[in-house]
Amino acid sequence: MSVVEITCAFCGLPANKRAGDVNRSRKQGYAVYCGRKCAGIGRRQNKSAEELKERKRLYDIQYRAKNAQRLKAEKAAYYQRTRDPEKERAIRKAKMAQHVEYCRRPEYRAYKKQYDREYRARMKFGSFWESHMLLVDLETEVNSQASRYEVYMEKGTINKMQKRKRDYEKSYCR
Ligand SMILES: [Zn+2]
Repeated sequence: MSVVEITCAFCGLPANKRAGDVNRSRKQGYAVYCGRKCAGIGRRQNKSAEELKERKRLYDIQYRAKNAQRLKAEKAAYYQRTRDPEKERAIRKAKMAQHVEYCRRPEYRAYKKQYDREYRARMKFGSFWESHMLLVDLETEVNSQASRYEVYMEKGTINKMQKRKRDYEKSYCR
């Protein structure tokens, strides 16, 4: 094993290293250090605290997206392991009045109505739930349309001749 003397790229002190290792590092374009400590410090990227925080934030986002299923299962299991039903009951009771007010708001009622419709459609018709809802909407729309009779009455175009005759008789034939 041949050994060569190198100058550490970090501390600048001479050190003896295996020639094969040194040659491989130089060929790859890597710096040569005296030991693990200098290599570690020498390869630091010297990022600011903000840069590190930003890097962690972005990493966390993709980590959570990638492991969403496992994290959710773990959290659910932890909750089941540690929950206290008595404590939860007390919290629910304390918040009940506020909750009732919350449910009475018109926007919540509209949301709940839509939610329930969807829920029932899914329960009853499975993967055809959207078709079912569309059909019900269509039926409601058709039923809300005026019939021909109603339209003609509105416009006064039903029994036109009879009407004219009666008007004429009312005005001139007394
Ligand atoms: Zn060194």
